[in-house]
Amino acid sequence: MRVFKFGGASVKNADAVRNVGTVLQELGGEEVLVIVSAMGKTTNSLELLAKAFYEGDANKHAIYKEVKKFHDEIINGLLISSASHTYDDIENLFIELECELENTPFEDFDQVYDQIVSYGEIFSSRILSAYLNESGIKNRWMDAQNFISTDNTYREGKVDWDITSSLISKKLKPIVKKQMVVTQGFIGRNKNNFTVTLGREGSDYTAAIFAYGLDAESVTIWKDVAGVMNADPKKFPEAEKIDFISYPRAIEMAYYGATVIHPKTIQPLQSKHIPLYVKSFLNPKAEGTVVGVSTDKDIQIPIYIVKGNQLLMSVSTNDFSFIVEDNLSKIFEAFAKFHVKINLMQNSAISFSICVENEAPKVEKLLQHLSQEYAIETYPNVDLFTITNFKNEDINTLLNGREILIERKVKNTLQLVIQ
Ligand code: ASP
Ligand code: MG
Repeated sequence: MRVFKFGGASVKNADAVRNVGTVLQELGGEEVLVIVSAMGKTTNSLELLAKAFYEGDANKHAIYKEVKKFHDEIINGLLISSASHTYDDIENLFIELECELENTPFEDFDQVYDQIVSYGEIFSSRILSAYLNESGIKNRWMDAQNFISTDNTYREGKVDWDITSSLISKKLKPIVKKQMVVTQGFIGRNKNNFTVTLGREGSDYTAAIFAYGLDAESVTIWKDVAGVMNADPKKFPEAEKIDFISYPRAIEMAYYGATVIHPKTIQPLQSKHIPLYVKSFLNPKAEGTVVGVSTDKDIQIPIYIVKGNQLLMSVSTNDFSFIVEDNLSKIFEAFAKFHVKINLMQNSAISFSICVENEAPKVEKLLQHLSQEYAIETYPNVDLFTITNFKNEDINTLLNGREILIERKVKNTLQLVIQ
C-alpha cells in the first residue's frame, strides 16, 4: 500500500490536474491512497473569505465568486461532463459554501476559519476524483474527516492517534485494498463534529497520518522541485539536491525552516520505518530524495537553512534574582498560554534568550504579559541560521559582516541568531 500526496501546485490548473493523471497512470497501480491539497493558492483566498465572513464584510460575495470562477475554469478545462453525478456534487458543494456565508458566524474566529478554509481541499479532491474516473483511472472519493479525529484546537488540530489509526486500519484499509482512494489533506474532525484543520501546509502531515494507520510501504510527496535541496536555491545558487537523508536530519531541517516538508510529517513515518520519497511531478521517474532510516550514507554535504522574520528576546529579572526553575517555569507557561513557538533558546544565570517567529499579535501579547514581571530586551528582524556539516571557512562568507547575537553548537549542527 502506498500513499501519494499532491500539493496545491500540482493541481493549480487543468493541465496540472491532467499531469496528476499521467503520474498515477505511470506509477500508481494497485493499493494507492491519493491525498490532495487545495488547488493553487485557494487556501489563501479562503482565508480572506473566512475573515470577510467573520467581520460581516460585504466583500465576501466577491471573494466567493473569485474562488468559484477559479475552480469552474479548471472543471471546464478538464471537460468534466456536466451530466455526471459528480458534477452535480461539486456544484452543490459551492452552493453549500455560499449558503454558509449567510449564517451568523461562530464567536471563535478560528472555528469559523476551519469551517470555511477546509472547502478548498473538498473541492480539489472532488474535482480530481471526478476527472480521474472520467479518464479511466477508477477511484473512490472519501472524506478524510471520517478518519482523522482531532481535539478542539482549531487551526492546529492535535490528532487523537488511537482513534485515528484504528479508523484508518479498520475502515479505510479494506477499501484501499480493493481500489484507489482519493481523499484530502489538511483536515480532520473533532468530537463535536466540526472540521478542524491541521495547520497551514498540513497535507504532508495528513499523508504521514494515513501511512501510519495503513502501515503503508511508502509515502511519496509530489512537488514542483526535484527533491529536497541542501539550501534554498533562491538564496544559495549552488544548492544541490539531496539523494538520501535520515529521519532525524530531515526533522531538523523541516523544523528549522526548510519549507519542502511539513515538520510534523517525519515522526509518524520514522516510528514505523516507512520511507518518504520527495519527487518531482514534472519528472516522475527521476530519483528525487529518500528520507529513511539512518545509515552510514547519511548526508555529508553541508545543509544551510535560514529562517527569517525572527524576534530574539532576552528576559531577565527586575529583582536581581537568577533565572532558575521558578522563573523558567513562569516564562514557559506564558509561551504556552500565548501559543508562541520557541525556535531556539539559551539561558545564563541572569538572562534567558529566546528566538521566536515574529508573529503579531500573539508575540506582542506575550511581550506585554512578560514585561509585567521581567525586564525584556528585544531584537526584531533577526535571522536564524541552522547549518549542518558546516565548514568554519564558509561561515564568514555566509555572515557577510553581520553580527552574531547567539551561537549554539550541537555535534555537527551550528545555529546562529544573526542581526
Ligand atoms: N491547503 C493547505 C494550505 O495551503 C494545506 C496544504 O497545502 O498542505 O496550507
Ligand atoms: Mg500546499
